[in-house]
Amino acid sequence: GPARFRVGLVGRGIQASRTPGMHEREGARLGLSYEYRLIDFDALGLADDDLADAVMLIEAAGFAGINVTHPFKQAIIAELDALAPEAAGIGAVNTVVFSEQGRVGHNTDCWGFAESFREGLPGAPIGTVIQFGAGGGGAAVAHALLLSGVGRLLLCDPDRERTEALAQRLAQRFGPVVAAVSDVRLALRQADGIVNATPMGMAKYPGMAVPPEALEARHWVADIVYFPEETALLAHARSLGCRVVPGTGMAIYQAVKAFELFTGQAPDRASMHEHFRAA
Ligand code: NAD
Repeated sequence: GPARFRVGLVGRGIQASRTPGMHEREGARLGLSYEYRLIDFDALGLADDDLADAVMLIEAAGFAGINVTHPFKQAIIAELDALAPEAAGIGAVNTVVFSEQGRVGHNTDCWGFAESFREGLPGAPIGTVIQFGAGGGGAAVAHALLLSGVGRLLLCDPDRERTEALAQRLAQRFGPVVAAVSDVRLALRQADGIVNATPMGMAKYPGMAVPPEALEARHWVADIVYFPEETALLAHARSLGCRVVPGTGMAIYQAVKAFELFTGQAPDRASMHEHFRAA
């Protein structure tokens, strides 16, 4: 019979996730026996402290690996044997592979953003970039930007402690190229491009983190919010003539890389885009 894979997503409030659909449709398209389960701590009535037991049971059940999402991207690290370099640098894991070397943690959000950015904004100037939001997603995005060759990264987040912690972590790996922003308007004048890694733009968080009147046509704008795909920020930027890239690419490409880590087979990107729209 075909190669069999069982994988899953561990998190809370994940019932509407499009990730299972993307994986299962691509598994089926490739002729694999591929099952993607939701392990939703909310639906299962589990406590955060149950994570260690859950991982043990999942591994014992023969899963090839798991995706990990909110609120476990950091807590999962204590349950792992090894981290891929980008996951260690970011300090967060969204993909775990159960292998002969043990439980290995990866961060495919980082690759997902880098790939979406490379594809969506080819040739964009990357001397100075301003990033709004220094949370979990923001850490992966900041790493991706610096790995992509961004010269100077300006971080803007009202949570100063979080921002400084991320800037220090990045400085350890990339040198003194990251700064926390105090004057947002000045930073926007210096920036070639703008990244939104805050939840602003989702239905629950209407509006935008970027002061709209400070946007200029020469700015490119990348959003990592993907529901809705066209955020208020992207719509405004587009109306000014800015080059933009929505968050859907990152959401799809994190799954592309995770699928490859789970199965050893590279999914077809165009098909993954279709699965995302259908899921
Ligand atoms: P988080 O809560 O860990 O971090 C969000 C950060 O944004 C916080 O530090 C908060 O202080 C900051 N923030 C809020 N409002 C701000 C503002 N006006 N200006 C500057 N900073 C502000 O959340 P997260 O997990 O990083 O997710 C953020 C968003 O990114 C969510 O909408 C999530 O859905 C999205 N996301 C998308 C992908 C993808 O694959 N496209 C991946 C990860 C996260």
